[in-house]
This record gives sequence, C-alpha cells and structure tokens, in this order.
Amino acid sequence: MNAMTSNKQEIGERICSNCKMRCTPTQLYCPRCGYILPDVLNNDARGMMATGTLIPLELGQPVLIQPGTGFFHRQARLFLHHDSGKTLSVDVRSGIKVIGRRSNEAAAESNLIDLSELGAKEFGVSRRHVQLSLSDESVYAIDLGSTNGTFLNRERLIPEKPYVVRNRAVLQVGVLILRVQFG
Ligand SMILES: [Zn+2]
Repeated sequence: MNAMTSNKQEIGERICSNCKMRCTPTQLYCPRCGYILPDVLNNDARGMMATGTLIPLELGQPVLIQPGTGFFHRQARLFLHHDSGKTLSVDVRSGIKVIGRRSNEAAAESNLIDLSELGAKEFGVSRRHVQLSLSDESVYAIDLGSTNGTFLNRERLIPEKPYVVRNRAVLQVGVLILRVQFG
C-alpha cells in the first residue's frame, strides 16, 4: 500500500459527510446513515438548484439536514423493505402510487402497490391506504383517509396532507411496518 495515499480519499470513493463512512462510487446514499453523498450533489447542478440552500460541499463539511435524507436523487430508486425479507420496488417516477390491497370484487388499479401477500388485511391495511408521489425531488406520502392510519417514524399522518418521506424512514401502514430505502 502507498503510505502517501493511505489516509486520503481514494479516487472515485465517496465519503459520507455525516458519518464519514467510505462509500463506493456507485452509491448515491450512505448505506450506514442514509444521507445523500456529497459528491453526488456536487456533480449534479440540477439537484443543487432544486434544493436551493445547497452549496458545493468540501470533504468533511457537514451536510445540511434537509437534503441529507429527504433529497431524492434523479437516479435514485425507492424500495420498501419488509421484515419477511420481501422488498417492494416503487416506481414513483412513472406517477402516483397507491399502497393498499387488492379488492376481490374489482380489478386492481394499475398504480396499486398491493400488500396482500404481506398479510395486508390482517394488519389493517385499507384498499387505498396511502399514496406515494414524487415532487420537487422529494417523495411525499399522503394518507388517503385509511381506517387504521399511516405513520412515518411513529408520527400519525393527518389524512390528505403531504409529508416528506426520508431515506430509512419507518413507514407504518395500519400495523404493517415497512422500511424506506433510497438506492
Ligand atoms: Zn453516513
């Protein structure tokens, strides 16, 4: 190993401004703390304009809390993890998605994220429970007047009101728990 470079950032390596973890060039978000990586923002003029308050970040400079976990990069994908090991990919770029469960009587909406196989009915998930949408480079959740409520990090959402969904948030649909991951 070259001692001259052993303590420095490797070419292409991304170091998380929040927790200092060394990340690979292909990662957009720190896998440990969920913050967007600073180089991703530095190399993304559109992202910087959209967030307004962002300035190019020097290595080690703290990342502002707002874009830290709430900024949804234009190349990012949205995943919902369930404790069973099942992961749902939610394509928020193609339009509004509705999380719920399939009705036996009617054909499923094409934008339905069906939680039936995760035991949706038993866990109090309404047919049209909560919607996820992308706007201004943030993902928003809106509870659709569900019977048992939607919770983000244990906070109950007021129906019809949009809330920013942050990377690694815990999204509780009725009593069914999903973990949000941007990747
Ligand atoms: Zn980190």
